Amino acid sequence: MHELSIADAIAGVVTEQATLYQATCVKSVHVRIGEANAVDTDALLFCFEVVASAQPMLSGAQLAIDIVPHRARCRHCGKEFHVVQCIMQCPACESWEADVLSGTEFMIQDMEIDCSDTQEGGDGEHAQCADRTEHSGSQ
Ligand SMILES: [Zn+2]
Repeated sequence: MHELSIADAIAGVVTEQATLYQATCVKSVHVRIGEANAVDTDALLFCFEVVASAQPMLSGAQLAIDIVPHRARCRHCGKEFHVVQCIMQCPACESWEADVLSGTEFMIQDMEIDCSDTQEGGDGEHAQCADRTEHSGSQ
């Protein structure tokens, strides 16, 4: 099951980061997933809940998922188009040579953690994760 391994991977990275920041628990996780990864968001939410509930640090963490549209630009006519089902054919000139603009990324955008030792406002720390995907400057 595709989504379960993704949920597992997210949980692993988040736990690692939260430990690094000496968090006691993770409140929320925000991920950006390219459409090309063909992730079922409902299934991923469900899987994450299952995975998270088994880990004290993650139990109750909310997962927010942004799906990034799969877009490409034609090398021949320069038209930008939406890639449907990974078919990279330009709808304008029917060329198959196109560069992907977005939709293949997979990253943890940010996460909200709680460090109960430091009682400042009680709103938790905000940890920004490094953008680890290849960026191709969409729009
Ligand atoms: Zn074209």
